[in-house]
Amino acid sequence: MEAAFQKKAVEVKIPAGRPSDYFAANVFNREKMFKYLPPDAFARVEESVEKGTPLDLRTADAVAEGLKNWALQNGATHYTHWFHPLTEGTAEKHDTFLDPDGKGGLIEKFSGKLLIQQEPDASSFPSGGIRNTFEARGYTAWDPSSPAFIVGDTLCIPTIFISYTGESLDYKAPLLKALEAVNKAAVDVCRYFNPDVKKVFAYLGWEQEYFLVDEGLYAARPDLLLTGRTLMGHESSKNQQLEDHYFGAIPIRVLGFLKELEIEALKLGIPLKTRHNEVAPNQFEVAPIFGECNLSNDHNLLIMALMRNLARTHGFRVLLHEKPFKGINGSGKHNNWSLGTDTGILLMAPGKTPEDNLRFITFVVNVLKAVYRHNALLKASIASASNAHRLGANEAPPAIISSFLGAQVSAVLDKLEKTDASEVIVAGKQGFRLDIARIPELLLDNTDRNRTSPFAFTGNRFEFRAVGSEANCAASMLVLNAAVAEQLKIFKAEVDTLRTSGKDTYAAIIDVLRKDIKESKAIHFDGNGYSEAWKAEAERRGLDCETSVPLIIDAYLWKSSVQMFESTGVMTHKELEARNEVKWETYTKKVQIEARVLGDLAMNHIIPIATRYQSSLVDNVYKLRDLFTADKAASMSVRNLEIIEDISNHIRVIKEKVDEMVEARKVANRIDSEREKAIAYHDSVFPMLDVIRYHIDKLELIVDDELWTLPKYRELLFIR
Ligand code: ADP
Ligand code: MG
Repeated sequence: MEAAFQKKAVEVKIPAGRPSDYFAANVFNREKMFKYLPPDAFARVEESVEKGTPLDLRTADAVAEGLKNWALQNGATHYTHWFHPLTEGTAEKHDTFLDPDGKGGLIEKFSGKLLIQQEPDASSFPSGGIRNTFEARGYTAWDPSSPAFIVGDTLCIPTIFISYTGESLDYKAPLLKALEAVNKAAVDVCRYFNPDVKKVFAYLGWEQEYFLVDEGLYAARPDLLLTGRTLMGHESSKNQQLEDHYFGAIPIRVLGFLKELEIEALKLGIPLKTRHNEVAPNQFEVAPIFGECNLSNDHNLLIMALMRNLARTHGFRVLLHEKPFKGINGSGKHNNWSLGTDTGILLMAPGKTPEDNLRFITFVVNVLKAVYRHNALLKASIASASNAHRLGANEAPPAIISSFLGAQVSAVLDKLEKTDASEVIVAGKQGFRLDIARIPELLLDNTDRNRTSPFAFTGNRFEFRAVGSEANCAASMLVLNAAVAEQLKIFKAEVDTLRTSGKDTYAAIIDVLRKDIKESKAIHFDGNGYSEAWKAEAERRGLDCETSVPLIIDAYLWKSSVQMFESTGVMTHKELEARNEVKWETYTKKVQIEARVLGDLAMNHIIPIATRYQSSLVDNVYKLRDLFTADKAASMSVRNLEIIEDISNHIRVIKEKVDEMVEARKVANRIDSEREKAIAYHDSVFPMLDVIRYHIDKLELIVDDELWTLPKYRELLFIR
């Protein structure tokens, strides 16, 4: 084990120039498009990105040619459509640019047709039955709103992934639809205040937490290797009690990794800004400057892939699992989210004038209402077998969605709720004037914010903190943006109804806001989300308190959810059903793999090791009898006899429980319905993992360290 600790930092090649010089060097961004495309093609692409209009084939050919020339000049030999299937990752299939030149040689070619659409033989991606294997056609189609980029020798073209019949088979397609829905709905509401607004963007700034472990030690832990988390392991005597890791000095080997990660990320146009140690030993975080949601999500997927690759160069493995180690913090991915206009207004930030502030309150209240109405669905959007370990544990938000607002915004909402529109609207010389409480532009309590809230308002944005470290942000972002879009549409309809009955616009807005503040009160909670009292209170308030992942996922198919997705054009009932099949199946498979790995390890690592150690103790007891009188030998052997018995007891329970677990699995496997099967895995297989682990961890404390073949927590968790 020691050898693993002695690795030196890998030297990192620093590119010439400042980071801002090589930023986006590997991205075919606007600047490069301008340089590599004929002017009319450039103009058409810009228009297509802005308006979402499809590209004609001639323009696509011109883009493909420019893209190819840029890629070849930058060392690319291959290209791929890069997409996000319903697995938690990205997919790519590489082709070279080579084509016969008709004279017996080869030539580099790339056409608009190949750029725009491809038909990968993608029959083994999850589709929830939408695409039977005999009808295996799935299409990837270029998303011009996220620029192409080069990784290594490959030009990657971001695409959506859809079935022959048009259903989305990925995360990107519905995310783009949700972003379009929220754009439309928010522009409409924005125009009450700022008639010149033409476009509203959803912004995302993710904070990615992760663990690093030494590659050698990782390789010696089959559970980490196969499931991404440790299924056993007694807590290290020292872990995070001293709170000496958070923001601590970054170990030199890790710094090398981080340096290279930053350089490569910057080259890919990912504007990384922050890096620091996290709370748990070996835990770190990176965060970029926030950006448009679709692009920022691409960046997050890219950085996860980049981390996995670069970690290996530096002798590490990166763990993105939400809970790789028991007893210390898990990893999340905070999704900082807000809306902003093409005119530069951040809609979740207070402004200077009463009108600005009414707009601010309007958007905050609509978000609250959306989160309230779809709190169960939002929870479903972050639920997974691995994130379940984190939620509800005493380090992460509970499995209940609520929203923290802070003292200042809470006070403003309270005041508004109690104030009649006629008290706020003052008739002046120029007509109506608003007289609403001043809101400081910089909200003071945003630094002192509540870290126990899953959906906290933090000054100019909301921070969705319940998202898992391994997740594709799109899963939660598409739900949030769609839910907010639906709510803004409802809000506008209500306001307009009052206006047609003769009410002034601001008075109508205030009336509807007052109603919405009252109606969504249950979601607003500024207290300690980790407390037991909150669970009881949330239950009383009617918030969704379900903790079983297979049941949480049901919320996607609730009437209110289907209606929300269909009315915003984000997903159809059929797509939702198919995706739920995938979610249940994935849940089952994850627990199934864990159960198998733990069963194997228990039977062919742990029990043999414990038995060997026990035999050596038995041997010792016999030898003492040879050497000493019976009485003396007996008294000398008291402790070892106790240990011998303890070991037998633990081994017996482990064996019994592994057998029970195998039986429970067999019963579950016979169930046809994916939902029922997932429930069976949750209820009868999953709980066995902890029972078995308990006894293995006890053995770890007893058995001779020399014999214990698996690296322990104290070795895994402290990089030197
Ligand atoms: P903290 O740890 O205090 O939450 P970090 O600096 O680690 O803050 O991360 C905050 C993230 O929020 C960054 O990615 C940042 O760019 C992003 N962010 C800041 N303002 C906004 C906003 N208005 N909308 C979306 N994301 C934002
Ligand atoms: Mg942070």
